[in-house]
Parts: sequence; structure tokens; C-alpha cells
Amino acid sequence: MKLIPEIQAAQSEIQGLRRTIHAHPELRYEETRTSELVASKLAEWGIEVHRGLGKTGVVGVLKRGNGTRSIGLRADMDALPIQELNTFDHRSHNDGKMHACGHDGHTAMLLGAAQYLAQHGQFDGTIVFIFQPAEEGGAGAKAMIKDGLFERFPVDAIFGIHNWPGMPAGFFGVTEGPIMASSNEFRIDISGIGSHAALPHNGRDPVFTAVQIANGLQSIITRNKKPLDTAVLSITQIHAGDAVNVVPNTAWLAGTVRTFTTQTLDLIEARLRKIAESTAEAYDCSVEVSFLRNYPPTVNSSAEAQFAAEVMREVVGDDRVDDKVEPTMGAEDFSFMLLEKPGCYAFLGNGDGGHRDAGHGVGPCMLHNASYDFNDQLLPVGSSYWVQLATKFLSQQ
Ligand SMILES: [Zn+2]
Ligand SMILES: [Zn+2]
Repeated sequence: MKLIPEIQAAQSEIQGLRRTIHAHPELRYEETRTSELVASKLAEWGIEVHRGLGKTGVVGVLKRGNGTRSIGLRADMDALPIQELNTFDHRSHNDGKMHACGHDGHTAMLLGAAQYLAQHGQFDGTIVFIFQPAEEGGAGAKAMIKDGLFERFPVDAIFGIHNWPGMPAGFFGVTEGPIMASSNEFRIDISGIGSHAALPHNGRDPVFTAVQIANGLQSIITRNKKPLDTAVLSITQIHAGDAVNVVPNTAWLAGTVRTFTTQTLDLIEARLRKIAESTAEAYDCSVEVSFLRNYPPTVNSSAEAQFAAEVMREVVGDDRVDDKVEPTMGAEDFSFMLLEKPGCYAFLGNGDGGHRDAGHGVGPCMLHNASYDFNDQLLPVGSSYWVQLATKFLSQQ
């Protein structure tokens, strides 16, 4: 590992920031304390601060020399509505809210890099530090873009990191092309005619129809989609009826669709609508379909992914970088930034939980688990990566 000595020396300071943020988790678009802390630290280090993008987002701008190149480094700041089970000192002080996705660590790693770059950075160009709100289902990245993020702070490329439990601590995973999936949700409302359960011929059964639709939808994955295109369709809810002897008037089912391309998603949505509508028609029921596209797929551009992998190898060594990491069907709103700019999203191993402090709750250190905690050993790794990435990127022609 080639970590930056000044960053290693600042470990306890950065860890202090991480634990303060962990202890005061804030949900999407409510990150006022966190953004205040971020803004005050950036200002303290002499970085130009802009606030209010995407409501609670913060942007720091650091410019040196006359270089025209610019790079965007992004961290997310929001927490989740989870009751934390850990009892260590930096546990959540906010009931029902918790940093269970490690965004406290992401924010701290980027702050660590910002401090170093402001105090010791040798580069020529502009570094834009982006602290975004509301990654967890609030599309905070999109909100910042809508508020003029890239018009006000143009960047040549944009980069992001997510900690990754299960991957050894300090290892990086990255890949060209899709690294995370699009996230979409659907709901199908079926209206029939209720009846006595013993006299079904008097009605039009929405429960039977819902089951036929549920079965039919899986044919999209096995019969319509090209086998080599990755996609998941999961029905996660089916609701109908209140009594064993009554066929109800209505039924509904809902679920999620994940894909790596918009073309596959277009196909799945069209087939889902057709199967729902034609199946309902076949059984004399009516149907209403809603299909919501939440986050697009996170797709890394080739040059930036290769560049990021090169920097990772310099920081942690060849044997700690997987540059063809298996993509995940999870989703991430950094995808909205990658629709605007070339760039790269990567995983940083959080370890298997061996870093647990005393007072760690039972259960694994997995993302969105009530016993999760960000691995502080990663702080100098992530910060060193950010510094090397920005410095090297700006030195390129
Ligand atoms: Zn999350
Ligand atoms: Zn996350």
C-alpha cells in the first residue's frame, strides 16, 4: 500500500469526523447538520464553498494554477430509517435513523482528501468536491444536477466510491461498462367482480387473474429478453381479499425490475404492460399498470474506469484491485451524474466485519443492516485514492 503519510497522520482527525457524522445520522434532504459540518470544514481549509444545491448538497471548489482541466469527486451524506443495534460510543443519537450504508465514511474520506489537497496539494486545474444529499431513494444526484451542478461547476469527468462489505478491506473493485443496475418499480391493480366463493361463476375473479399475470411476467425474463442481457423481475407483493369464503373485487401485485441497459428495460416494461392488460382482458377483469423508473443503470466509461483502476493499483498494489469486478443488481443515483459526464464508480472493500468495535450489535456488517458500521481502516485508503486520482487526472493533457 502506498498511502499518503500526511493523510495517515490525520487518521484520528478524519475518524473523529466520521464518527461524529455516524452519531448524528440524517435522512434524505434533511442533512442540515452534516452539510453544515462539511461546509465549515471545507471553509476552514480555505476551499470555496457553495451550498443549497439539491437542497442540502454542498460543493467545494479548489483551483490551482492556470490549468483548464477539472475533476469532480462525489460523496453521499444521507442515512437510513433504521434503528441502530450497536451500542458503541459513536452509535446513532437519532432514534430510528442510522448510517447503515457507510455514507458517513464516504463523506469523511472525501473530507480527508479535501484537507490534504487544500494544505499540500500539488496540481494544476480545478477539483470539485461534491457532497450530495439523498442517495437512498431520493435521487439527490439528480436534484443537484437540476440545480445547475455541472453548469456552475463544469468537470471533465466525475468519480464516486462505495464501501463494499464482503470484499476484503482496502481492496478495490471496478469495471468498465455497467457496474450497478437500473432500479424500477411496478404496481398492477386488477379490478374484477366479487362473489360468494362457492359461486365463482357469478363474479370475475381478480385473484385468479393476479396469479396468471404473476406467472406470465416471468416469461419476459426467460422468453423475451435476450439470454445474454442481464435482468431481474421480482414480484414482491400480492394483496387481495379478507375472507376465505369471499372472492374480492380487487387484487394488486407489485415488484421491482433491474436491468443494465435502457433497451432491456424498455422491452420489459412494454411486455409487462401487454401481459397484464391482455391477461386481465382474457379473464374479463380490468387492469391499471404503473411503472416507475427510479434510478438508471450506473455505467462506467471505459477510459475513466481504466484510469481509476490504474490509480487504485498505485495506491493499494496490483493484487488488491479487481478491474473486472462482478456488477451488482443494486442501484445507485450516481448513475444520473454518469449520464451527464464520463466517469467511474467503484467499490472499496469494507471487510468481513473483523473491524467491529466493542459494542457492535449482533448480525453482519452488511449494508442496510442494523449492526453495520463503516470500517475506519478504509479512511486513509479512500482519501489517498481521491488525492492520487485528482492529481493524476489534472496532470493529463
Ligand atoms: Zn444504501
Ligand atoms: Zn449507499
